[in-house]
Amino acid sequence: MANVRFYSGDTVPLEMHKVRIVQKLNFMPIERRLEAMREAGNNTFLLRNRDIFLDMLTDSGTNAMSDNQLAAMIQADDSYAGSETFYKLDNKIKEIFGKQFFLPAHQGRACEHILAQTFVKPGSIVPMNYHFTTTKSHIVLKGGKVEEILIDEGLNVNSEHPFKGNIDIDKLKALIQEHGTDKIAFVRLEAGTNLIGGQPFSLENMIEVRKVCDEYGLMIILDASLLADNLYFIKQREEKCKNMSIREITRAMSDLSDIIYFSARKLGCARGGGMCLNSKKLYLKIRELVPLYEGFLTYGGMSVREIEAIAVGLEETMDEDMINQGPQFIAYMTEELKKRGVPVVTPPGGLGCHLNAMEFVNHIPQQQYPAGALGAALFIVSGIRGMERGTISEQRDENGNETFANMELLRLALPRRVFTLSQVKYAVDRISWLYQNRSLIGGLTFVDEPKILRFFFGILTTVNDWQDKLVAKFKEDFGDSL
Ligand SMILES: *Cc1c(COP(=O)(O)O)cnc(C)c1O
Repeated sequence: MANVRFYSGDTVPLEMHKVRIVQKLNFMPIERRLEAMREAGNNTFLLRNRDIFLDMLTDSGTNAMSDNQLAAMIQADDSYAGSETFYKLDNKIKEIFGKQFFLPAHQGRACEHILAQTFVKPGSIVPMNYHFTTTKSHIVLKGGKVEEILIDEGLNVNSEHPFKGNIDIDKLKALIQEHGTDKIAFVRLEAGTNLIGGQPFSLENMIEVRKVCDEYGLMIILDASLLADNLYFIKQREEKCKNMSIREITRAMSDLSDIIYFSARKLGCARGGGMCLNSKKLYLKIRELVPLYEGFLTYGGMSVREIEAIAVGLEETMDEDMINQGPQFIAYMTEELKKRGVPVVTPPGGLGCHLNAMEFVNHIPQQQYPAGALGAALFIVSGIRGMERGTISEQRDENGNETFANMELLRLALPRRVFTLSQVKYAVDRISWLYQNRSLIGGLTFVDEPKILRFFFGILTTVNDWQDKLVAKFKEDFGDSL
């Protein structure tokens, strides 16, 4: 994004790219959207693309690629072992992160699987700023326990805190004293903390965490899937880093980490993932599992074309004009909604704009999944697909009781360089209308509830006929308009 002042005095995010390949969108009438939502069991994951207008489900594997990425893909060197393409990425990782060893995996959760297999034992504790769905599932599957030691402000939906993803250092020390270092598998830091609204942590906080980990001999594993946003916010919001380049900040974060893993579906705008580190001993240990679960060490379950795209994408991530597009569009959308009184998570983070369902539909009890209900309602009235990040995304406890989420969010992801500003304005308009008519939104209940990661496949139904009433009101206000 360019920092261009408009004569009108407005602040408008200005794209620093032009569109050269386009995909036609479908825009279905509201009757079809209602039908599609019902067919999908009120679960936005089960919708089909043909029924969706703006897909704001996720930024995973949906970011726009650059001309240079596409060009590199054509040159990929395909072979089971020893592909030159792999060494291109391996070198890029060395150059950017300064880590000697790189292990590929097919996506972010595959790294989590391998790292949990390697380091988590029954009874292990894994302290972290905040969990991510797949991370927690892999740790729990191995008999470990996640301990969230985020600063209290992190769970405050509306805040001025620039780094809501920071770790509370006192909580970290207390946890270590309570359990002893032997029980702690590693400390996990998640860049661009996903489930609390794409919120960053500061470099200063990371330095503090490192000090504690050094004191107790603990390892830091950095989940760098959303690193691009975190880098941008460190440069924007952290006084001491204002004059550092994105490359220098990346290197500083890397130097504070023992192991870095990432989903290249997000970081690098391609598809794939990997882990990098400097310890040969740990590398050899982790390496054993890669051919078993992912594939040979020079592809790790990825297509060589995607590996080429990641190498170029990582380089492009070092360009501030590139990584600021997501956060600036998100900030625009968040501010516009705020002006209209819509409850959103503030300050704006990365990844997407997050609606605060707990307040948006405060008449829906948590047992009836307010964020899920809001997601279903928004799709029906707009064709926009969001993702529930609330209680449906949690897992029941050992006794089968609901684990109520700390926050009930509807995440509207803005995949990088994909949407135009008029599409964002459309989203703002329909969300504002829905907010005016929020009393018409009702709750959801499970019809079919899977045990693990239920948000992916769960089937839900409405507690009454609220969706018909919502459609009737929409038609009253918008007539024949889509
Ligand atoms: C998406 C994500 C993952 C998992 O990556 P996948 O490639 O989707 O498996 C892990 N951690 C964070 C923070 C993520 O956002």
